[in-house]
Amino acid sequence: MASLVKLAKATLRPGIRAISTSLPAASSGAPPANGYSFELNDEQKEIQSLARKFTAEEIIPKAAEYDKTMEYPWPIVKKAWELGLINNHIPEHCGGQGMGVFDQCVIAEEIAYGCSGVMASMLITNIGQTPVIIAGNKEQQKKYLGRLIEEPLVAAYCVTEPGAGSDVNGVKTRAEKKGDEWILNGQKMWITNGGVANWYVKNRVLEQGDKLVNEILKGISCWPVPTPTRKHLLARHSPVSL
Ligand SMILES: Cc1cc2nc3c(=O)[nH]c(=O)nc-3n(C[C@H](O)[C@H](O)[C@H](O)COP(=O)(O)OP(=O)(O)OC[C@H]3O[C@@H](n4cnc5c(N)ncnc54)[C@H](O)[C@@H]3O)c2cc1C
Repeated sequence: MASLVKLAKATLRPGIRAISTSLPAASSGAPPANGYSFELNDEQKEIQSLARKFTAEEIIPKAAEYDKTMEYPWPIVKKAWELGLINNHIPEHCGGQGMGVFDQCVIAEEIAYGCSGVMASMLITNIGQTPVIIAGNKEQQKKYLGRLIEEPLVAAYCVTEPGAGSDVNGVKTRAEKKGDEWILNGQKMWITNGGVANWYVKNRVLEQGDKLVNEILKGISCWPVPTPTRKHLLARHSPVSL
């Protein structure tokens, strides 16, 4: 199976950014009279066909077994990483493939056809990465995004709490500075990749004097944190049917 990384390096890479910022262009023939085309271009068709083949060969035959055992699908996630199907939206200035949202939707659609649970494990890592991409400094981007490029690892995004679901502003997690360290205290739940992620972005209540980075989520900030050790983490696995 050709990998997206190879495809990206060979032909796709220069086009990936353009694809993500514009409507997909028709792959052949004259443009439609109204100027819009929802047909995938040739590169997107290649991405789609790679993801479809991967789903048929690697996900569909094993999905029922993972549902039964509730094990994390590491072998699938690792193979997907090798092919460039995950952690691929990390921008080029951070050393990544710089794939756009539309192309990732093409991949997600194919993978979710095979198993929506495996799709969540493979692609929700992106949500954890996003705050670091948008607001992380160079050092944080290198530290946290770099390892996802170098190794088949996933991140997690932790906003939901027992009292904060749709109402994100209800988060109660707080950060307290003790000496040189920050102690994050709070409860998170329903975290995709919780317990297996290499690092987590946790939302916590802003304290006085913190910089406000997002007007919508007033009073909340995102913290990238390395995997908590057993000492710090009391985790319970909850099965979820999708
Ligand atoms: C498969 C899966 C994976 C998940 N992964 C993650 C993850 O990785 N990280 C993470 O942080 N969270 C995760 N979650 C949690 C998810 O983000 C929350 O379930 C979601 O935010 C909704 O919160 P809730 O379940 O508490 O529902 P509630 O907020 O209690 O909502 C219950 C119902 O009330 C409705 N409702 C809520 N508020 C209003 C309103 N003001 N007006 C009208 N209707 C309203 C909602 O639409 C919904 O139908 C995951 C959930 C699932 C199912």
